Amino acid sequence: MDSLGSTFEIENAAVTFGETRALDGVSLSVGAGESLALIGPSGAGKTTLLRLLNATVRPTSGRVAVNGRDLATFGAAETRALRGRVAFIHQDYRLLPNLRVSQNVLAGRLGQMSYLKSIGAMLRPSKTSLNEVYALLERVGIPEKIFERTDSLSGGQRQRVAIARGLYQQPRALLADEPVASVDPARARDTVELLTRIAREENLTLCMSLHNIELAREFFPRLVGIRRGQLAFDKANGEVSDQELSGLYQLDQNEMLVDGA
Ligand code: ADP
Repeated sequence: MDSLGSTFEIENAAVTFGETRALDGVSLSVGAGESLALIGPSGAGKTTLLRLLNATVRPTSGRVAVNGRDLATFGAAETRALRGRVAFIHQDYRLLPNLRVSQNVLAGRLGQMSYLKSIGAMLRPSKTSLNEVYALLERVGIPEKIFERTDSLSGGQRQRVAIARGLYQQPRALLADEPVASVDPARARDTVELLTRIAREENLTLCMSLHNIELAREFFPRLVGIRRGQLAFDKANGEVSDQELSGLYQLDQNEMLVDGA
C-alpha cells in the first residue's frame, strides 16, 4: 500500500495569517499516484495549499487528511514521518551552498534519523548511500557533479540537486512549489517533464504549483485553478477553457479602480 503514493483530502479549509485570508473554503481530493498542477496568480494561495498537505501550515478551520487520517490527530513523530514521505521541492531550492552535491542529496533523509546518526551519514556516507545518491543524480541528469561544491552549479543544476534530495527521501508524494520559476524556459520544460515522468514511473502523487500555463497544459492531466484563496476550477486538462484560464488572471473591478486611481 505504501508504494502507491499518498492520498490527500482537504475539506472546506480556510487559512488566515493575521488579517490575510490566504485560503477560504477550499476542498480538494488528490488520489494516490495522481498528478495535478495548481495554477493562479501570485498571492492566490498556491503555496499555502501545498503547505497544508505536509502540515507545515495548519487549517484555521476545516480539515486535512492524508491516507484517510486527519493531520490534526498527528503527534510530533507522525508529523515528522509524514514530512519524510512527502517531499517538498521549493522554488529557491533550499540547498546548503558550501556543501558538496552528494551531501545535499544525503540531507534528504536527515529527518528520518537521530541527530548523531545524521551527522555521520553526511560526513562519512556508506558506499551504499553514495551509490544511491549517484543513481539519483544520474536520473536527474547530473551524475558527474556528485562531488562538486553546490555553489559552483547553475540554477538549473541546483534545482536537479533539490529534486534528487527529495527523491532520496523515498517519498510517496512530491509537492513542488513553482519549481521552475527561477530557470530559463527550455530548462523549465525539461524539469517539469522530468518531475512528471518520475512521478508516473514511481507512482508518486504529484502536486505542482506553476506560473507557466503552457507547461501545465502540456504535462498535467488535471488542472486546479486558484484565485484569491478559492478554487476557481478543478477539472481534467482538456475540459478547462482558455477563458477559464485567463479569468484566473483578470483583475476585479475593485482592483482596477484602485489601480486606476
Ligand atoms: P501563492 O503561492 O499563490 O503566491 P501564497 O500561498 O504564498 O500564494 O500566499 C497567499 C496569501 O497569504 C498572500 O496574501 C500572502 O501574502 C499570504 N501569506 C502566505 N504565507 C504567509 C505567512 N507565513 N504570513 C503571512 N501571510 C502569508
